[in-house]
Amino acid sequence: MDNCIFCKIIAGEIPSAKVYEDEEMLVFRDIEPKAKVHLLCVPKAHFAYLSDADEEKAALIGRMLQKVGAHYHEWGLEAGYRVVINQGENAGQTVMHLHMHLLGGETLGW
Ligand code: 5GP
Ligand code: ZN
Repeated sequence: MDNCIFCKIIAGEIPSAKVYEDEEMLVFRDIEPKAKVHLLCVPKAHFAYLSDADEEKAALIGRMLQKVGAHYHEWGLEAGYRVVINQGENAGQTVMHLHMHLLGGETLGW
C-alpha cells in the first residue's frame, strides 16, 4: 500500500527493530515506547481497521495472537502484557495499518 509506514517497514524500506517475523506477521519495537517493552505486531497484508476483518482476516488476527502467546516470553513480556488495538480517531489511531500494541516489561497503570 503506497504511503503506509508499516508497509514500508514490512518491505524493509524503513528500518525497524524487529523481534519476530514469519510469512504473515512482523513484530517490532515502537519508536516512541509507552512502556518499558512496547512492541507492535502487524499483519504483512495491509488493512486499516479491526472492523475490516472478514472471516479470513479474523483468522489471521487469531493466529497472530496465538503466535504472541507462543513467543512473548522471548520478548521481555514474561511477567504479563497488555494487547491494545486502536481504531479510529477517538482511540487515537495514527497509522492506518492494523496493529496490536503489546505493552509490558513493568507494572502497567490504566
Ligand atoms: P496507533 O496510535 O496508530 O495505535 O499506533 C501507532 C504507533 O506506531 C505509535 O505508537 C507510534 O509510536 C508508532 N510508530 C509510528 N511510526 C513509527 C515508525 O516509523 N517506526 C516504529 N517502530 N513505530 C512507529
Ligand atoms: Zn500498510
